[in-house]
Amino acid sequence: MKGLIEFEICPSCGHGPPVRLAPAGHRVDTTLDLIAGDPGMFGLDSIEFAPLMDIDFVICSRCALIFMPRRSTPEAAKQYYSQLFHCIETPLPFDELPLSERFVRRKGAFARDLIRTLHDHGVLASVESVLYVRCNAGEGPRLLRDEYGLSEVYGLELLPSCIRHAREVYGLEQVERLFAPEFDNPFPRRHFDLILCDEAFAHAHDPVRIARSLTRLLNDGGAIVAFKEKDHSQILKSTRLFPYGMNFFHKQLFTRRSLRIFLELQGFSVEPLPHPAVGKRESLKNSKILYLLRPGGTAKPEFPSAEVEPLTLSFRRWLSAHQRRSRRQRVLSVFRTRGAEPGIGGAARR
Ligand SMILES: [Zn+2]
Repeated sequence: MKGLIEFEICPSCGHGPPVRLAPAGHRVDTTLDLIAGDPGMFGLDSIEFAPLMDIDFVICSRCALIFMPRRSTPEAAKQYYSQLFHCIETPLPFDELPLSERFVRRKGAFARDLIRTLHDHGVLASVESVLYVRCNAGEGPRLLRDEYGLSEVYGLELLPSCIRHAREVYGLEQVERLFAPEFDNPFPRRHFDLILCDEAFAHAHDPVRIARSLTRLLNDGGAIVAFKEKDHSQILKSTRLFPYGMNFFHKQLFTRRSLRIFLELQGFSVEPLPHPAVGKRESLKNSKILYLLRPGGTAKPEFPSAEVEPLTLSFRRWLSAHQRRSRRQRVLSVFRTRGAEPGIGGAARR
């Protein structure tokens, strides 16, 4: 099928084939509904995208990564990402100018905490150039420039509204469009001392490729800060999260451990730093990961044994609770609204 490929080996450690998380390894994606639901408006073919709604998760028997084996190609994903923010019925607080004060304040508060954490741990020492990937409205780059005295601050961001805000309100000329999930450097500068990366690896179509792209952009002695990566073993404890299904963006359901294994396999030394608070949800407090990564690591990853089982169990528990509550109403109603046969997507496999 066009726009879809199958990962037959683990996208982290290359081991395969993975084990299907049956019978509950199933997801429902409503962000995809929104895109696939109106091909006339968004230029996408709902039949092409329907199989993406019926994806099983699998687990790697070597590194215990849970992942989506079936996923969009980079081309289809690019289209998906670029359309996503224009097809949600209720206007998002960050998709139009002027940006809501609350949105800017919230993102700014996080950026301030993040940068303070990095400063306190000496990460900013002797750093001159920074690339901030997914910089939102530009608060992070602005703080690095105005309060930490860095003159070479670059940003990448998905949303045109945020890019305009960064440029027009903060005068950050060096903020460009990020075309996720492909990582591209649009700046003439080829190398950076520090790259800050907001949840790049869980979202990556091909996480190995992202790790290599980022490493290539580092100066000698440079570092990458991977933050807001999620520990899904924590997230899966809460069935209140993702009431409409696992976020389509999360192709790898990393845990603290499986992310570390992945990063060590990519040749990074991995230093955990405390993660700044994100939002108000207590249940999310322990789910965020911040790793400081330096190329040239020599650690041999420790593959798990007994830890695999609790994660698998929490995954199954989460999915069956989630499915009981929302899948039937939500998916059936989507298909009914469209007048399509429910057999196309996830509804038939109940
Ligand atoms: Zn693996």
